[in-house]
Amino acid sequence: MATKTVHINVSTDHLDPALRRVLPLLAAAVRATDPLYQAHVPLMYPEGFTPKDISHITGAVRAQLLDRRKLLVWDPDSEFDAAEIVTHPQIAPHAQTIVINLDKALKLLDSPAHDDLITLIHAMQAGLRDNQHIDAEVATARSLGSIEFSVYPAYTYTDEHFGAKAAYDAFLAVVIDSDPAVQALLDDVEVYDQVVGEMADYEPLQQERRFRVVDQLTAGGATSFDGFAIAYNFPDEADVREQAGGSKTVIISNVLKGKFEAVTEPIAKMLYGDGVHLDPKGMVLRVLGHELAHSLSFGIDDKRFAADSNAGEELKAEVFGMLHILRLCERGVYDKDLFGQTCKLHAADLVRQIHATSEAHGTAALVQLSRLLDAGALHQLPDQSWTVTEALARDVYQQLGDELIAIHRTSDADDLKKLLAETQSAKQFVARFKKELDKLPTRVMFEFTF
Ligand SMILES: [Zn+2]
Repeated sequence: MATKTVHINVSTDHLDPALRRVLPLLAAAVRATDPLYQAHVPLMYPEGFTPKDISHITGAVRAQLLDRRKLLVWDPDSEFDAAEIVTHPQIAPHAQTIVINLDKALKLLDSPAHDDLITLIHAMQAGLRDNQHIDAEVATARSLGSIEFSVYPAYTYTDEHFGAKAAYDAFLAVVIDSDPAVQALLDDVEVYDQVVGEMADYEPLQQERRFRVVDQLTAGGATSFDGFAIAYNFPDEADVREQAGGSKTVIISNVLKGKFEAVTEPIAKMLYGDGVHLDPKGMVLRVLGHELAHSLSFGIDDKRFAADSNAGEELKAEVFGMLHILRLCERGVYDKDLFGQTCKLHAADLVRQIHATSEAHGTAALVQLSRLLDAGALHQLPDQSWTVTEALARDVYQQLGDELIAIHRTSDADDLKKLLAETQSAKQFVARFKKELDKLPTRVMFEFTF
């Protein structure tokens, strides 16, 4: 599989001077997680285990693996200068701990507007010093205003594309969810949940779950070791989440755009012809729609649907994420052609997912693509290029939405199994393009400058 490196520049002009001064320090702290992560890979993926095996490990074994991780050590008394983020020479060979001194960095934050950041760093300090990952993770979940800084031991969202889970992750990002298109989805989700969730057992969606869209400035840990996450759930451990009183999903907008340009757009050109123009913002909205849909009041849970629940839940997120975008187009919040654009982009992205994965997201992609092909929504033009007919795609998604709600209502595991087995057309379709697809990059590495 070919890898492509994408350079991303992030403008920090809009940040105030105190925050800009502290950025290099925070960036260094983030990058210091790389040796930590690399040292933990053997723990996360013991000899003879593939990431796929690990994803099937649950409960006690997984808890044992997690127990073996050690946490970042905050050392407020260390002699190191604030400008240095130091890997302690004696512990570096084991790379189980790392010394980070950000105390002096606090002094750079001389504006009272940075109370949030100061609170965060103090909370991290307490949590990390006591080796209490719960406090540390809760601390990093706090609002930072216009920047987002996290160094934490965690699993990240497993991108089907990279198959990576993190032992340690770190992000430095600028919050951008003031984008009106993004804000519209975020603002509408509770109303949308009432519309789709009007059923006997309707319970309003989890209020505590929060969403954020950011532009990433730099990253360390899993993200630079084995590909980049496009989103992460934070905290991503059920027990930690319980104690933290909820979770937060962060969508990384510029990474998604980079991935769109490096991977999805070439597939779109292969399908629709070189002249196709797709707005990468559709990818951000689609992924945000997907993640929002996971938090809707009904789900395809493992109690009722056992082994099929993961693929079923992913399909639910895909379908209701798309329907949420459609709803905003119909209400005139978005341009009316945005849904068609998103479908076109999404179909290309489905091909990418099918080509590069075999897990739950892959099954959900196969079902959607099969339905789009079978309905003629994705179809070939006389010049041999492909196109998406918006009205037919809308019918496909509405139909899939109805079926998933019916499956939720009846708890009929056989119906879900049947639906998830509808993969033939998509498999044939992707096989047809195998030669071309194998030539295209499937992995993206990012280089950040700011
Ligand atoms: Zn998902």
